[in-house]
Amino acid sequence: MSAGKQCEAVRVVVRCRPFNRREETAGCENILEVDDKLGQITIRNPKAPPDEPMKVFTFDSVYGWNSKQRDIYDDAVRPLVESVLHGFNGTIFAYGQTGTGKTHTMQGLSKDPEKRGVIPNSFEHIFTLISRSQNQKYLVRSSYLEIYQEEIRDLLCKDNNKKLELKESPDCGIYVKDLSSVVTKNATEIEHVMNIGNQSRSVGFTNMNERSSRSHAIFLVTVECSERGPDGEDHIRVGKLNMVDLAGSERQSKTGAKGKRLKEAAKINLSLSALGNVISALVDGKSTHVPYRDSKLTRLLQDSLGGNAKTVMIATVGPAHKNFDETLATLRYASRAKKI
Ligand code: ADP
Ligand code: MG
Repeated sequence: MSAGKQCEAVRVVVRCRPFNRREETAGCENILEVDDKLGQITIRNPKAPPDEPMKVFTFDSVYGWNSKQRDIYDDAVRPLVESVLHGFNGTIFAYGQTGTGKTHTMQGLSKDPEKRGVIPNSFEHIFTLISRSQNQKYLVRSSYLEIYQEEIRDLLCKDNNKKLELKESPDCGIYVKDLSSVVTKNATEIEHVMNIGNQSRSVGFTNMNERSSRSHAIFLVTVECSERGPDGEDHIRVGKLNMVDLAGSERQSKTGAKGKRLKEAAKINLSLSALGNVISALVDGKSTHVPYRDSKLTRLLQDSLGGNAKTVMIATVGPAHKNFDETLATLRYASRAKKI
């Protein structure tokens, strides 16, 4: 990876998970080829005649079935988290069909350091950097929220069914009114905050998986740094790190959604398509209008997408032929976020 790539405002990477037990038993065919040297993924349409040319997509990086959590962190995420300590905002998204590894990639909650995902690795990284600093004082706060059906809920608040509102002020920009924010002093404390939020995500819902595949979960870390300048004054800079486990990207029509479900599906797709539009307007660079206002997700993340902020999109896919349509759709979405 070149140094230039690391400086880019939007990085898009794709991770392919291994076959799972079920797919192996069912004798699923592999439709993906991952070339990590070239950053390319080739996808084969299992229904197409063998002589039909295969589709090739190129990304900033691609990670095959045996990639390590560490590889993703060091390669794709580390520079972004460093920039947050320097006062920049950054956002990391996991995008993909349900079951392809979004939560595994973002959380990977395990005692085994090898299995830990982006979020716990970022906690470790942030507090290591802070412990090495000499002339700065840091304050780290975190919040955890969920957007479900275009409604915002606080995952760290007991009364988590309360719907929160997005507000805008000249001083703070866009913010969520009444959102809890917890000060944490080390990686253990902040991980505890995340665990509490994760528990609250499932409360009151019969099917946790179903809910988590239909909502966007955003873990927000705010890092405030104060440093005495040569002028004898304290200078403060603030960086925000948003880590987003997006709702499943699968098209809902396939599951035969009706009535309430169909409305819900339309709202999930609204946020994901609005996000795609915002990112492609940013990557395009020539667009005079970036449509942040089109969804709660993009409005909330407005000051962490574009401008001086850095964005990493991690698109996740599975290798099995039965998911060809969804996998192709994910690769197209991710590739659109990259197109100039
Ligand atoms: P999603 O959040 O996208 O719905 P999950 O993260 O829950 O998907 O992953 C589905 C299953 O696949 C989980 O059991 C997870 O542990 C496993 N899995 C996902 N990605 C990988 C990977 N890269 N390596 C090994 N197992 C994975
Ligand atoms: Mg998940």
